[in-house]
Formats: sequence, structure tokens, C-alpha cells
Amino acid sequence: MTVDKQHQILEAMGIQVWESRCPEASGDVAPSPIGKIKLAATPPATKLDWQGLQQTVTACRACELHVIRTQTVFGVGNKDADWLFVGEAPGAEEDRKGEPFVGRAGQLLAAMLFALNLKREQVYIANVLKCRPPANRDPAGNEVQQCEPFLLRQVELIGPRVIVALGRFAAQSLLKTSDPISRLRGRPHAYGGTGIPLIVTYHPAYLLRSPMDKKKAWADLCLARSTLQASA
Ligand code: SF4
Repeated sequence: MTVDKQHQILEAMGIQVWESRCPEASGDVAPSPIGKIKLAATPPATKLDWQGLQQTVTACRACELHVIRTQTVFGVGNKDADWLFVGEAPGAEEDRKGEPFVGRAGQLLAAMLFALNLKREQVYIANVLKCRPPANRDPAGNEVQQCEPFLLRQVELIGPRVIVALGRFAAQSLLKTSDPISRLRGRPHAYGGTGIPLIVTYHPAYLLRSPMDKKKAWADLCLARSTLQASA
């Protein structure tokens, strides 16, 4: 059996596979809690332009996810968008294609946008994490912390008028809370110190499993639209 095949089987069983695809890096690195993997400090992102930010993310090895990614998933869409949609982290398909929200969840997100009279190219779509966690596990706290400056810089560069957090994890990460999604939906929040309104709704992947909640998601999107319109 090939190593690739073994890894596919282990991943399908929900067992994490950690295998370095990178040569050992030298320089300013800290030891990883899982042994051989070496991590670098998150590069500063505060003054980067789009090109510099994308290059920095592509080269990032600030958390252990850099070892198993096929590629980083930076984000796509209109860099001057009024709407910013933020999900949790890339899945397997996103990791392969380098783009967030592809596959069935992406199709549902496109349908949600269509209902708002928006096209995917008109909004910006990103994730809290730029690299795929193995076996679709939740991102770890240190991974979110290391990756946060990149999303924050994306928000600064886009200057959206409303942010929509897709799913519990994105909402809790962006709002720095452990409140359940049921308590976070239904009212505008503000993203960090930016004052940009943030609306919480369900992740499209969840809605595929729980179509009964699509009505609630539509109410969330309508709230986001009225919040954006009120900010005009
Ligand atoms: S998830 Fe973020 S912090 Fe971790 S390696 Fe990828 S880009 Fe860097």
C-alpha cells in the first residue's frame, strides 16, 4: 500500500496524519509542541498591500497546518466589496483548489448571494484560517491566533460595510466569545475595534444538513442587508 493510500485511509477514519512536506527551515523558529515540526512567528501584516499580504500568507508557516496543506486558501472576490463573508477554514476541496467555499457548500452560498441579488464576484469571501485543518477538525486556538492578523488586514484593505460570519466557529472567533450561535444570531455586532457591523448566520455546510434552518439564515441575510443599507 502506498503512503498516500495509507494517509487517505487514516484521514477517513478521523486520525490526524502529520507529515512534513517541507525541508527543515533554519532561522527564527520555535519548537513545535508536536516535535519535529518547526514553526515561524506570524509575519507582520499590518502594512502589507494585497500582493504582499497574499505572498506572506502563501509562505506562512506560523502554525502546524502549514505542514499538511496542499496550498493556502487566501480568499476571493471583490477587493472593494461592501459585503465580506467569513467562514471557518478550508475543507479538502478548498485545499485542493485554493479557493474558499467550493463544492456543495459553495453552491449554496452562491444561492444565498443570488437571493440577495448579489454575485460571488461582487462580495469578498474568506476564512478565519487560511490552511486546512486535518480531518475537518475544529481549528485550534493557537492556529486562530496565529492566522488572525491576515484576516484583520484583509478587512482593513477591503473596508466592507458589513461582515457576515458563516457558522458558529467563525462567529465565535471573530467576536471572541464562546456564546452559542443561537445567542449570537438576530442582532448586529461590531467586528473588533473596527466598528464594522457583523451579522452571524449558519454555515452553508450546516444548512445542507439542516435545511429547516434555511428560513432563519434568510432572516439573518435580510438583517445584514438592512444593516448595510442603514450605514449608507
Ligand atoms: S493557518 Fe494561517 S497561521 Fe497557520 S500556517 Fe496557514 S496561514 Fe499560517
